[in-house]
Amino acid sequence: MTRIYPQFVVAKFGGTSVADFDSMNRSAGIVLADDQVRLVVLSASAGVTNLLVELSEGLESRDRMDKIDTLRTIQYNIISRLKAPLVIGKEIDQLLENIARLAEMALATPSTALSDELVSHGELMSSLLFAEVLRERKAQAEWFDARKVIRTNNFYGCAEPNISLVKDQAEAHLQPRIEQAIVITQGFIGSDDAGHTTTLGRGGSDYTASLLGEALQAARVDIWTDVAGIYTTDPRIVAQARRIDHLSFSEASDMAAFGAKVLHPATLLPAMRKNIPVFVGSSKNTAAGGTLVRRETEDPPLYRAIAVRRKQTLLRLHSQHAQPAYTFFAEMFAILAEHQVDMDLVTSSESCIALALNSTGSTSGEDHTLTTALLTALSSHCRVEIETGLALITLIGNQLHRGAGVCRDTFMDLDEHAVRMIFHGASNDNLCFLLPSDVADGAVIALHRRLFE
Ligand code: ADP
Ligand code: ASP
Ligand code: MG
Repeated sequence: MTRIYPQFVVAKFGGTSVADFDSMNRSAGIVLADDQVRLVVLSASAGVTNLLVELSEGLESRDRMDKIDTLRTIQYNIISRLKAPLVIGKEIDQLLENIARLAEMALATPSTALSDELVSHGELMSSLLFAEVLRERKAQAEWFDARKVIRTNNFYGCAEPNISLVKDQAEAHLQPRIEQAIVITQGFIGSDDAGHTTTLGRGGSDYTASLLGEALQAARVDIWTDVAGIYTTDPRIVAQARRIDHLSFSEASDMAAFGAKVLHPATLLPAMRKNIPVFVGSSKNTAAGGTLVRRETEDPPLYRAIAVRRKQTLLRLHSQHAQPAYTFFAEMFAILAEHQVDMDLVTSSESCIALALNSTGSTSGEDHTLTTALLTALSSHCRVEIETGLALITLIGNQLHRGAGVCRDTFMDLDEHAVRMIFHGASNDNLCFLLPSDVADGAVIALHRRLFE
């Protein structure tokens, strides 16, 4: 098929960009200002997913009603500003009824599958309302259920997409539509082979946008959020953080993987595979510009950014028998693999393996990493030590292994802190360390001052 829009752009709007009618209207203006934007991916309105997650944890009647009332107020504050609110009001009422029914079930029979079904309603509602806002501005907008295309496995709460199936489905269902209309769909949600709703983990709408960009070979993916780009660190922690105008895929991917919330950890993977530039900007201030992430940047600096990942657990496994390290390591990693432990950072001595476990990301909000089954299996082979309440701070840069003085620069201001673990050497481009969570912000501020200000 010949494409009418060969240079088409996917635009994703985060929660604050669709928080209320004025935000939606402003975001609709961004869509209409660029006629290459043919596919719009939306988050739930700000605060809605958190409310739905709480409901999915099984609340008693009074609390449940309160949360549902808050949800209704958020939706009706938008509906009441529409010129023709009646039809859309009925559709939203239907979804609010579903939410009430599912929230009651969550108290009686909670499950991660039910939780994903319930939580998906945030994106369903915001996308219906946004399509209506666009139509009232005379745009030809079509609502589309992303679950038809974002096909995943059944790891509820943090499902993984099947890339080739997503491509086939997108070509079959989305490609013809974007030639005819501006298609409005949901981020974050998908479906498994049994047709059950799944979610891609907290912040997953960014990932949906890049997955769809990859599937349809978009010319660019635009991520519209509440900050004017990607900064040297979270500007909420360090007011002096500076916007980075250009980033390489690998730099931005490391930032996202190591906790820079501005992008879901997996967002850059589809973009890298198909070399699709990703722009990040503020929907509240388009004139402020933003960050363009692309394959390469000119003169990549030694130090690029600092990221923080909270809720980290340090797991230490001590060998109790006189056995060669290779046997002990093989046994431990076999158990960790069997229990599908998500680990990205490991250090060791001859009789101990230490791992940093990440328990952020899943929609259900629970920590499923250290299950009883895993701990039982490990304890029968070794002595297990667990330390919680840690934060992982990552310095992201380029060729850090060649830079003399990198360790001095990094740890110089952290004298008074107990650094619990250091990871350096496996990657040339990042250096990570674990600290108690309560001192993480102070450490980021000090490190940022030394390296970036
Ligand atoms: P959205 O709802 O639009 O997806 P998020 O809250 O998920 O927005 O992400 C935007 C937030 O990411 C910012 O408000 C900021 O606090 C945080 N953030 C963390 N690290 C960075 C960084 N390096 N650059 C910019 N923002 C960052
Ligand atoms: N609404 C989901 C969340 O709050 C997904 C997203 O916003 O990207 O995590
Ligand atoms: Mg986000």
